[in-house]
Amino acid sequence: MAILRFRALENSSNRKPIVVIAPSSKVSDFYGINVFDKEKMHKYLSKEVFRQLQEATHIGNRIDRKVAELVAAAMKNWAVSLGATHYTHWFQPLTGSTAEKHDSFFELSDEGRAIEAFSSSALVQQEPDASSFPNGGIRNTFEARGYTAWDPSSPAFIMESPSGKTLCIPTIFVSYTGETLDFKAPLLKALHALNNAAVPVCQYFDKNVSSVNATLGIEQEYFLVDIDMYNARPDLEMTGRTLFGAEAAKGQQLDDHYFGTIPDRVNSFMVDMEIESMKLGIPLKTRHNEVAPSQFECAPVFEDINLAVDHNQLLMDVMDKVARRHHFKVLLHEKPYAGMNGSGKHNNWSLSTNTGKNLLSPGNSPKSNLMFLTFFINTIRAVFEHADLLRASITSASNDHRLGANEAPPAIMSIFLGEQLTRVMDEIEKSVKDKKMTPEEKTALKLNIGKIPEILLDNTDRNRTSPFAFTGNKFEFRAVGSSANSSHPMTILNTIVADQLSKFHTEVEGIIKKGIKSDEAILKVLRKYIVESKAIRFEGNGYGDEWKKEAKRRGLSNVTTTPPALDAFITKKSIGLFERNGIFSHREVEARHEIMLETYIKKIQIESRVMGSIAVNHIIPAAIKYQNLLVQNVEGMKDIGLPKEVFSTQIELIKEISTHITVIKKKVDEMLEARKKANALTDIRAHAISYCDKVKAYFSEIRYHVDKLELIVDDESWPLPKYREMVTIR
Ligand code: ADP
Ligand code: MG
Repeated sequence: MAILRFRALENSSNRKPIVVIAPSSKVSDFYGINVFDKEKMHKYLSKEVFRQLQEATHIGNRIDRKVAELVAAAMKNWAVSLGATHYTHWFQPLTGSTAEKHDSFFELSDEGRAIEAFSSSALVQQEPDASSFPNGGIRNTFEARGYTAWDPSSPAFIMESPSGKTLCIPTIFVSYTGETLDFKAPLLKALHALNNAAVPVCQYFDKNVSSVNATLGIEQEYFLVDIDMYNARPDLEMTGRTLFGAEAAKGQQLDDHYFGTIPDRVNSFMVDMEIESMKLGIPLKTRHNEVAPSQFECAPVFEDINLAVDHNQLLMDVMDKVARRHHFKVLLHEKPYAGMNGSGKHNNWSLSTNTGKNLLSPGNSPKSNLMFLTFFINTIRAVFEHADLLRASITSASNDHRLGANEAPPAIMSIFLGEQLTRVMDEIEKSVKDKKMTPEEKTALKLNIGKIPEILLDNTDRNRTSPFAFTGNKFEFRAVGSSANSSHPMTILNTIVADQLSKFHTEVEGIIKKGIKSDEAILKVLRKYIVESKAIRFEGNGYGDEWKKEAKRRGLSNVTTTPPALDAFITKKSIGLFERNGIFSHREVEARHEIMLETYIKKIQIESRVMGSIAVNHIIPAAIKYQNLLVQNVEGMKDIGLPKEVFSTQIELIKEISTHITVIKKKVDEMLEARKKANALTDIRAHAISYCDKVKAYFSEIRYHVDKLELIVDDESWPLPKYREMVTIR
């Protein structure tokens, strides 16, 4: 092992940046060349078919067979013209990554000639072997099949690899009995619910609004590590994070990495990643260093949410592939290194109408500001009502390392509004009356509302510690983990907002029926919401211990681990919410809950096994080897008749090493017993809790002793690349 470490050190320090050549100096020449976007559809489809496809995309109309046939033919012709030989349905099973099943365009004609074919049925629906994807007991392997079905609202694209090109068709994945088995289908359902709920509310202000969609811009944080370093760390390879490693003497204390210069090698990787992303129509825009050494971030321009999520999933694949070319490994884990900053995936979310209005952007008149306030306050009310569910939507074994640690949003959900909007909330609360308002009162209020500045983007007014912050014209959900599929939290967010908007509409209608004008009715309900949801608003430091106490006083929950956090997903309240809005059936909620627990158990189980094997098979032998050296040394000194005092330090070290070895071995054995006990539990929740509370509890103790050994044992024989070595990129 130590050989691997030293080879990695040598290789990584000898690397040169790889020269990347863009297809053209103008991005517009290659942006989206691998996407079957509107431009290509125009070219390959008749006007009528194009129109029908657009309608299906935007209004959700059904696509009839004939149209699908023509679209399939067009897609195939386009893909073959670019050299594609295969096609695949690209989908997002609950494993967390994306899945593909490749089929060839190749077919034999009646005369036995080879032809390229792609039928509408191959476009619209496929039957991958669903048995190998998690389904939470919805189907047992021999029962029914699952199938993938085309999502026309996300364009097909071509994935390039050294061995050829593949046409990828974004699809949803459902079981034969109709239950969803992926991340995309529920999101599409949530967007449908959102549209249904938001349009009637928009109509109070603007009769031209006929559809509402959510927009999303995902900031992606990640770490880079040299591929040879990665290969020399079995823990990174198997679990995505380092299970051991003493803190580097120089970590991020100096904060000199943030916005510092990007190393050339990394820059090459970024340029390459941007080119590949651009070709796929992923509008990557910013790149910079992050807080921790070897941590970086990229962000695209925001898009319609379904597309933004697909693009982020695709981006993670692209990053991984491109990194290999540059002898890097991308670490998307939320906490690859203990003691250093973790990675998140900030979800910048807003709502937008068919008329192009951002509903979370203040306008320049009282009317448009009231519209803004309506969506703004309803979002706050929704997050207040379902804070625990939103918390559950971002929970995972890996994100547990981040939330609640003092460098990421806490596990307590709260919303940051900023000073100006807090003031607006307070004014509405004071001035809107329970009784009918006088014309003077109304005018005064209108004037105030009209004063909300059009641009609220004041950087000094930003709070980086809030999990859910309003940032001028959008909310930023920062608690999402870097490795997560944003679909899930976004499904939850859009669902709770949809549900809230429906309630709002009902309440406002109730007041209007009593003869009160709509503006006043709206204000009354908004005021009520402001009062009701106060507890979720927090402008202070979210990292401090004070907030934990304050949050407790306010009745906000602070669940720091996954198994109990997931409870919020299956409460009566949540199930009612999902059913009411047509997102999940009761059965689907239970199945998903089970899958999430199962995933959690597997993750911790793997970490525990890897931890045990590295400690026993790599660390202890290295420590013994060094200990033997010390023993020899002591014996030699004794032989030549030196007094005890001369080798007392060696004796101390020998004893110290023995102590660490003994504890490590004992704890690894105990941990194995804890796993056995946990595995014997039949109830899946108890099983997961046991892994969380009993098995995981050994991690820090075992790690402590291994990390101590790292500081004692001869550097020459230490098997694992050290933190300093891994995070330094030359
Ligand atoms: P910061 O790091 O300061 O939070 P960035 O510029 O890195 O800001 O990221 C902001 C993200 O928010 C970008 O992806 C941007 O496209 C996105 N964004 C901006 N406006 C909207 C909007 N209306 N809806 C969704 N996302 C948005
Ligand atoms: Mg941000």
